[in-house]
Amino acid sequence: MECTKEITVEKESNIVIQGRFVDAVKEFYGQVVVSDGIITDVITKHSDFRKPDAEYNPNNIIFPGFVDLHVHSREDPKGAEQHKEDLSTIAAAAINGGVVAVMDMPNTKHAITTMADLELKQKKAKELPIDFHFYLGIGPETKPANHRFYKVFMAKSVGELYFRNFESLDAKMALYKKGIFSEPKVVSFHCEDPAMIEQDPERPEISELSAINKALDIIKKYQLVGNICHVSTRIGLQAIINSGLRVTCEVTPHHLLFDESNFRNYKMSDFITMNPPIRTKEDREFLLQALINSQIDLLASDHAPHLLEEKEKGIRGVPNLDTYGLFVTYLMQKMNPHNIARITSYNPGKFLGEAYGLIEKNGIGSFTVINPNNPTRVMHELLKTKCSWSPYEDVVFPGKVEATIVRGRLYNIT
Ligand SMILES: [Zn+2]
Repeated sequence: MECTKEITVEKESNIVIQGRFVDAVKEFYGQVVVSDGIITDVITKHSDFRKPDAEYNPNNIIFPGFVDLHVHSREDPKGAEQHKEDLSTIAAAAINGGVVAVMDMPNTKHAITTMADLELKQKKAKELPIDFHFYLGIGPETKPANHRFYKVFMAKSVGELYFRNFESLDAKMALYKKGIFSEPKVVSFHCEDPAMIEQDPERPEISELSAINKALDIIKKYQLVGNICHVSTRIGLQAIINSGLRVTCEVTPHHLLFDESNFRNYKMSDFITMNPPIRTKEDREFLLQALINSQIDLLASDHAPHLLEEKEKGIRGVPNLDTYGLFVTYLMQKMNPHNIARITSYNPGKFLGEAYGLIEKNGIGSFTVINPNNPTRVMHELLKTKCSWSPYEDVVFPGKVEATIVRGRLYNIT
């Protein structure tokens, strides 16, 4: 990859890494051995150390590789938007941001709703240097397929894959209910109420609350494994917590950093628009505290790589992938590193049913090396996303991503 320098090790995807490791439950100084992409040994006794291929000063933290469960490539099998972010530029931006695996959304111009379309994307993804996971879209015309993960847009956002009212959504979701399939379907909901946002294009807080309540109702009624995407409001999050349901929920970097009272202070303020929109300072602070208190499961970026000329026309969404790791260094000033590992890797791994997130034998050999005290200014020249801009331009984050290791392949981030 031209974006980053690859160190050649004795054998592709085999590496001995030495330094200070932190995952969701433990911390140690030692060595981790990765063979064929999988952790085969964890060595903590100094006398047992081998010659390391990569050694990091203990001021750095080596986390299990970050997994971002919410990105929007614009790649579709019909090639409708070839001038926009494709899977290969997603991979470049991910590595740049310390992200080793992503989950890609289905609302491309030609929406991904069938296995045939999905398999074309999966085939391309296999050639790329990070792990890709995919959602299939649920829309008024779709049906369940031999796939586990689905995404629902409860109202119009970007693309044509959405529901016009809750009645048609509810009727459709009955087809996905538990018991029909050998394993329950996992469904992520973009929660905005279509009737309310039609009346108020500012997409008010109450439209998120109304849709979250409806999504929770559907999850319970059809016994789905449910996930609530990008919660942006205090009232929405409280509804999820108070429901007592075992659902997961996501928060984005932009809803944790920007609010109605501060966004004008940022250089790119004219383009800090997305669905759901940024909210009040009180909402933002509530989400941040809830994340610190482990009431939010996932830091998911909602990376939406729209071009600047599209932003000028008013399309909503912001790119977030190149800066995922930098944003983590902001959170590290507020949260303990075990909780960081939990929301960036362990919980995403649990969601996917894959061995991300724990540094132990048979875990996936992917890591993100963070120097928490090496301030980094975001400049568009350093971005790898094809859209080539960031809402955080000129923001100085407290730390830096030193390296991204994907299944034993090491990329130094310069
Ligand atoms: Zn999204």
